[in-house]
Amino acid sequence: MKGNYYKAPKPNAVHSDVTHRAFPGPCTAETVRCGSAYEFNTKTNSCCRSHIIKIVSVFAELAEQEGIPWIIDYGTLLGYMVNRGIYWNDKDADLSVLATHRDATLGLRERLEQHGFYVTYAMPRDEQWVGGDRMKIRLSRINHTNCDIFFWEQRGDGILFRNNYISVDKYKGREFPAAWFSPTKLDLWEGVPVRIPARADLLVAHRYSRDWNRLEEVNPGKRRLDIKIPDGAWKRFER
Ligand SMILES: [Zn+2]
Repeated sequence: MKGNYYKAPKPNAVHSDVTHRAFPGPCTAETVRCGSAYEFNTKTNSCCRSHIIKIVSVFAELAEQEGIPWIIDYGTLLGYMVNRGIYWNDKDADLSVLATHRDATLGLRERLEQHGFYVTYAMPRDEQWVGGDRMKIRLSRINHTNCDIFFWEQRGDGILFRNNYISVDKYKGREFPAAWFSPTKLDLWEGVPVRIPARADLLVAHRYSRDWNRLEEVNPGKRRLDIKIPDGAWKRFER
């Protein structure tokens, strides 16, 4: 793996956290992101939405040029399945890439930076729940509206897994069969051609439970389920 990727800064490295969370918006690449980007029960502002779409569309174009195997995942996949776009309160984009193409993906950094984006990569870490092995594309050094890219390793039994997760992943399905990833297909999300996993239906249920299409009913105002409601699939691929 290439070693020239700087680590993600602390949240207050660029500006004070207080300023950051109070900014009313609308945000631009020259301002901090909207304060409401930290409120998960608030509808995402249109400025923040447009930044998310911009980052994904630039990444998609570069990934397609390089033949990188990628899919939209997590909240971005949920939004695609529900309304073919950003889920109403989602504040970032989540993409998954096969780890065979980690270096090719990290190699996009310079071209991403030509768009003014701020790109970081956190190295894999020994502890499982601390985050790591994650690339982050932020709108700018000032505005941290972001797209996260997760890398998926494949085990001998055909199961994909991440080296590191973060604590919210305890409430989402994690490992899954490689056959749910490939072959991917192109479809429109927010009007942008993106890669959809082969079994988007199974993957979204794996991530967000069989109730993925009625999360508001199950848990009003929240996207993430606070309790584990495992589908059969969820359990089957637990480590
Ligand atoms: Zn905004």
